[in-house]
Amino acid sequence: MPMQLNVGDIVKLKKKHPCGGYDWEILRVGADFRIKCTTCERQIWLPRREVERRITKIVSHALSEQDDNDANN
Ligand SMILES: [Zn+2]
Repeated sequence: MPMQLNVGDIVKLKKKHPCGGYDWEILRVGADFRIKCTTCERQIWLPRREVERRITKIVSHALSEQDDNDANN
C-alpha cells in the first residue's frame, strides 16, 4: 500500500542513523527520495521502496490541511 509522503514530512525510520537519530525530513520525493537526518542534518538519497520499508511512523505531515486536530502524540 503506497504511503502518502510529501516534501517536508518528518518520518521515523526503523534503523537509527550513526548519530543516534531516528527522524528524517523528506526533502525531495520521486523514484528516489532525498531525506535529511533531523539530528545531524546529513542528507542521503534512498529509493522510495527503501524509504517505505524503513518507515515506522510518520511524525508530522507538511501538508496543512484544514482540520484542526491537535494530536501531539
Ligand atoms: Zn544523523
